[in-house]
Amino acid sequence: MKRREFIRNSGLLLGGASLVGCGLFNCAKKEEKMEEAGEPTPEMSRLDMIKKDMMEKQGLSEAEVAAKMTEFQEMLPEVKQMCICANCPSYVEGETELGFCHALVGKSSKITERKSCICPECPIYKKLGMKRGYYCLMGSKLELDLAEM
Ligand code: SF4
Ligand code: SF4
Repeated sequence: MKRREFIRNSGLLLGGASLVGCGLFNCAKKEEKMEEAGEPTPEMSRLDMIKKDMMEKQGLSEAEVAAKMTEFQEMLPEVKQMCICANCPSYVEGETELGFCHALVGKSSKITERKSCICPECPIYKKLGMKRGYYCLMGSKLELDLAEM
């Protein structure tokens, strides 16, 4: 399978949408300040790890990874809009994030218990032919795919 086709089928496109929904611009501003202060930024570290794995495990160049990140950002609003996590028994009060399967979202910081997962009923899940669940606890589809490589 060609690399581009693989990326599309593997759901990497899911990554795109998340930066906006999880407050991309607020997060970016906060991380910018932390960087200026020389503090480590956890979210950037996670994304840096994803980028590193995409280069090392998928053989993508820096430019290709950058292009994928742009695609992820563009895809994020749709993922968040279609996500049905808020109706899930595992979704806890106080959680506001959506689209945990998306590469730019990943694990929830609030959901801790497996009560049930309704991901298989989600249009995004069906559209991208996903097979797992509990992304809020396990991490994004991309991270899980990369971990298996
Ligand atoms: S597959 Fe699950 S985590 Fe992903 S958008 Fe749908 S309900 Fe949300
Ligand atoms: S990822 Fe699955 S288990 Fe987690 S809140 Fe969404 S539907 Fe529920």
